[in-house]
Amino acid sequence: MDYQSILKEIKLEIEPFLSEGNVADYIPALAKVEPNQFAMTLTLFDGTTYSIGCSDTKFSIQSISKVFTFTKALSLYGKKIYNKVGKEPSGNPFNSLVQLEYENGIPRNPFINAGAIAITDSLFTHYERDTFDNIIQFIKDISNNYELDYNEEVWRSEYECGYRNSALANLMKSFGNFENDIESVIKTYFKQCSIEMTTFELSRAMLFLANHGVDPITQKRFVTQSQAKRINAIMLTCGHYDASGEFAFHVGLPGKSGVGGGIVAVVPEVMSICVFSPRLNSWGNSLVGTKALELFTTKTGHSIF
Ligand code: GLU
Repeated sequence: MDYQSILKEIKLEIEPFLSEGNVADYIPALAKVEPNQFAMTLTLFDGTTYSIGCSDTKFSIQSISKVFTFTKALSLYGKKIYNKVGKEPSGNPFNSLVQLEYENGIPRNPFINAGAIAITDSLFTHYERDTFDNIIQFIKDISNNYELDYNEEVWRSEYECGYRNSALANLMKSFGNFENDIESVIKTYFKQCSIEMTTFELSRAMLFLANHGVDPITQKRFVTQSQAKRINAIMLTCGHYDASGEFAFHVGLPGKSGVGGGIVAVVPEVMSICVFSPRLNSWGNSLVGTKALELFTTKTGHSIF
């Protein structure tokens, strides 16, 4: 298939939408991002890549980091992790407090904020003060890229305004579903969200999930085949918050979005994809990114359905 021509067509077709939607501004440092950017990268199993747009531009991975921390927690704790977080779609906004209260402090899934904070808490139980170093090291290993770092300004900015995430952590603690010092865990969670990567790097990082848990290039295994299946299933059903059904309906791939404007997606046994465009739709997912992925699966027929 001529993937480069398909990417060119997609870029032309999404251009009229580049000024729609709004960048996330509840994290003040993210509001400074140039809003009309677009990039998309595909990575095949032999390492061949196809890119269009600003695929060398770093952006804040935000909630895409939740895929990596969940992967790490699942490999450390196995099924026990589901005592701490569920695996059902929430049908609620990413930072909602309401459901957490009536479900006794057990977040619906690891990809809403409460669930991801609970996962970081579980990593903290294992790694203590070295938790962030281990998270970023794991992302480096998975990406086969040892140059990654987080953005201090974005981290600080989110920390200074992170009232709602702190509230989620406090609520979980009040129900006994939080093991460590709230402040330390929240700081680590914000740091993982502020890691910066390009579409080129993120697309490479997701390849192990397209190949049953093994990086097809380095042959390193990160999770079991069954765990890789579970991660993909939760990405499909919960990767886009309360628009997860919309995403499955229009795109038809396991994927995870972040409020930095990135979306990663997996075509099982074929490739991994990352798209970036900072303006978000009303659910907090990249507006053009979602459209680009929909165009991609329509044009190539690469969908899991
Ligand atoms: N750091 C963001 C938050 O906790 C992540 C949300 C997202 O990317 O969807 O609010």
